[in-house]
Amino acid sequence: MTDPASGRHTLPSPGNFIRAVIEEDLRTGKYADRRWSGEPGTAERHRDALPDPAAIRTRFPPEPNGYLHIGHAKSICLNFGLARDYGGRCHLRFDDTNPEKEEQEYVDSIVDAVRWLGFEWRDEQEDNLYYASDYFDQFYRMAEWLVEAGHAYVDSQTAEQMREMRGTLTEPGRDSPFRDRSPQENLRLLREMRDGRHAEGTQVLRAKIDMRSANMNLRDPALYRIRFATHHRTGDRWCIYPMYDYAHPIEDAIENVTHSICTLEFEDHRPLYDWLLERLAEGGFFTRPLPQQIEFARLNLTYTITSKRKLQQLVELGLVDGWDDPRMPTLVGLRRRGYTPEAIQLFAERTGVSKANSWIDMGALEQALRDDLEGKASRAIAVLDPLKLVVTNWPADRTEPCEAPVHPQRPELGRRRFPFARELWIEREDFAEQPPKGFFRLFPGNRVRLRYGYVVECTGFEKDADGRVVEVRAEVLEDSKSGTPGADAYKVKGNLHWVAAQAAVDAEVRLYDRLFDQPHPDAGGRDYREALNDASRRVVRAKLEPSLAGTPPEARYQFERHGYFVADRFDTKPGTPVFNRVVTLKDSWGGGR
Ligand code: ATP
Ligand code: MG
Repeated sequence: MTDPASGRHTLPSPGNFIRAVIEEDLRTGKYADRRWSGEPGTAERHRDALPDPAAIRTRFPPEPNGYLHIGHAKSICLNFGLARDYGGRCHLRFDDTNPEKEEQEYVDSIVDAVRWLGFEWRDEQEDNLYYASDYFDQFYRMAEWLVEAGHAYVDSQTAEQMREMRGTLTEPGRDSPFRDRSPQENLRLLREMRDGRHAEGTQVLRAKIDMRSANMNLRDPALYRIRFATHHRTGDRWCIYPMYDYAHPIEDAIENVTHSICTLEFEDHRPLYDWLLERLAEGGFFTRPLPQQIEFARLNLTYTITSKRKLQQLVELGLVDGWDDPRMPTLVGLRRRGYTPEAIQLFAERTGVSKANSWIDMGALEQALRDDLEGKASRAIAVLDPLKLVVTNWPADRTEPCEAPVHPQRPELGRRRFPFARELWIEREDFAEQPPKGFFRLFPGNRVRLRYGYVVECTGFEKDADGRVVEVRAEVLEDSKSGTPGADAYKVKGNLHWVAAQAAVDAEVRLYDRLFDQPHPDAGGRDYREALNDASRRVVRAKLEPSLAGTPPEARYQFERHGYFVADRFDTKPGTPVFNRVVTLKDSWGGGR
């Protein structure tokens, strides 16, 4: 979160009102008497079953209409994390009640993403992977009951008439002329709807609540609409589909969910959630206590966008290289970028849950990654912008082995070895023909240490016809080798990294940065394309230390002085690594605003 006074980002403590609700419910034994037959179902199915072995049940209910992003990760970590911490179970439920936009491709990618994040819905006793579309028959049976009980009616107004009659925030709505149809007539019409005897948009099943309610969601909300659309799982079996507000509470109730956690936009829908489940409990479909909906503020992250629709546009317009472009906030993108599941979990934990919408700075996500990788990532040397350094007093056929720790704080990981030789690669920015003030690196007459190697003194350089430095020359001080007696007698300020030319591994390195260079790319309806960061991807040919030749896909390193890098999981081939920059060592964006 950004503190407006200092402009610095601060992290709210993870102390958490949702935990407080759960702990209170556990203390009072509110849900202790629930029974669970082993699979979702109505009261009848659970009645004679054993007590539910799960102390609480939560669920992550994605609609399979796109790839998951960092906002979904927040919800996954929250729901699965609560179930884990309180002896509960978390269900992965595909909320696939909307036939037009859903596809198997998305289902598969969501399954992969949740597992990759480190969560599991299956154990020895239960496999809690569900599809809302498996409940279509039950949704429909309950709709018939609501009609019979006088709680729902079929409205034959046009969409426009209904909109007009709905009223506004300041004006009450008016009753539909079809509101007083008899249950028998409503039932006949509902069945005709189901049987495909009415055209799309001509009939809608609505709850009969209160057209004058101050809460617009209670003004006879639609429960079912007609759609002649093929569903990715149920095919053409149905031509009526339930609305989200109807389906969701029922899905929760038949899965024995105790705490149904959703984002703040649904706060005004909670009275409808409760109304519906109360009616269905009266009808004997469910037993009390019923699931409770709890809202929290969605994750808003600066320097990115998390609207599925806009992410899709980025892909379709070719502004990124697909859903798994390493700059995308999708989980497939973050994974390819080199994010670890642990870093994302840490981020979700640190940002806590809140009742008020706010922005989290991208820097907080990046910092969680650094904190996770700092202790894990092996160190290595990569020269990203190579400039040749020739050690003129070193024979061409001589090499000298040098070594360095794999990890400075973890000696148990051992040491890496690489040769020193006459021709080396150093970073172009580590040499200056005329040193600016305070420049301690290489320039004519100056001495620096080549890290883990020798001290050298710069004796000259060579330029090409365009005036570009193409080679630097130096002389080695033979008795200065790191780790040998007397080496410390040389006091130099510069400490450069380098790779011996003959042993270097050539590799493509992709220097990724934030996709947008403005903190709120799509704020206020702005065209986010104007906020794209032109420097979000730069590709270089780098020289790597020899130990990196056999890097497997997804191995992560800290390249000394440069940041964290990962071997691209798709483009890395045996002997030919391709690296992505995950994140620099320090935040160069200066916190978010
Ligand atoms: P859509 O606009 O397609 O509904 P959605 O982001 O709400 O997009 P869902 O598949 O419905 O996508 O979301 C699944 C779950 O993830 C929901 O419970 C939702 O509340 C949660 N979720 C989505 N975005 C965020 C976010 N930014 N922060 C926290 N939770 C989120
Ligand atoms: Mg949604």
